Amino acid sequence: MALSFSINAAIRPQYQGKVGHGNKRFPDSIRNLVKTAGVPSLVSAPQESLKKGNWVKLICGASFEDVVDIRNLSLVYTLAGVDCIDCAADAAVVTAVNEGIEVAREIVNIRRPWVMISVNDDEDLHFRKAEFDPEDCPLDCSKPCEIVCPANAILLQKDKSTAKFSSDTNTLHGGVITERCYGCGRCIPVCPYDKIRVITYVRDAVATAELLKRNDVDAIEIHTNGRQTVPFKDLWDGLGDSTGYLKLVAVSLPYAGNFNLSLMNEIYSIMEPHLNCLNLCWMAAQ
Ligand code: SF4
Ligand code: SF4
Repeated sequence: MALSFSINAAIRPQYQGKVGHGNKRFPDSIRNLVKTAGVPSLVSAPQESLKKGNWVKLICGASFEDVVDIRNLSLVYTLAGVDCIDCAADAAVVTAVNEGIEVAREIVNIRRPWVMISVNDDEDLHFRKAEFDPEDCPLDCSKPCEIVCPANAILLQKDKSTAKFSSDTNTLHGGVITERCYGCGRCIPVCPYDKIRVITYVRDAVATAELLKRNDVDAIEIHTNGRQTVPFKDLWDGLGDSTGYLKLVAVSLPYAGNFNLSLMNEIYSIMEPHLNCLNLCWMAAQ
């Protein structure tokens, strides 16, 4: 059965921590809907969903870092019964996910979904941001980048303060809102002046290990391109014993037919000496 409802998920600061059972600010209908909808994963453990093959994961995006949206998404999707919430490997983002989960669990006493972070060992499409200098943009550009961005991550305005003194100094201001850009790339081909660059990055293994040691992350997804295993080994060794805090390790690699098997064996031999959790999951993307 599908669970469908809408909620004003923006919890104002004065209401935070005041949303326990019986609080009239949250409609009882939401609690009743969640309780009676019959979504199996509301009561069964995420690990059970993995075993049964009905695992449901909310993907916030490996590069999406708008903590307000992430907290609100986490709240709503926890109520909807997802097994896991996948987010950027960033301390503030993980805190926002956990806040959203806890607020949801104050509304309805349901089980906690796992929190998963995504990291990469090399260049990967999930780990990039768009960037451009708005002052380089022609003033008469129709700004298709702003229109096409699905994350509302581009905001451009004319600088009226400078225009007041001289039309020559009138420029566009704003640009990419970095924390909202998740690197989808849609803005790049629509720019008629080829002004938009892509900045790729690799998550730092030491910072990720520190994040895992906070003990509020349950799972990790490691994106590897599989072209060579040296970067994977560097990342895995860099995580060290922090992987002992995890319930699940997922390895995401491009689909390459039978070649995947030999690659998976090689990666497993790297991980095996300090693979402490019970679950290892492989994901091959075409
Ligand atoms: S890559 Fe461009 S279109 Fe995609 S989210 Fe970032 S700014 Fe928006
Ligand atoms: S489409 Fe290109 S030139 Fe036009 S506003 Fe966007 S980045 Fe600037």
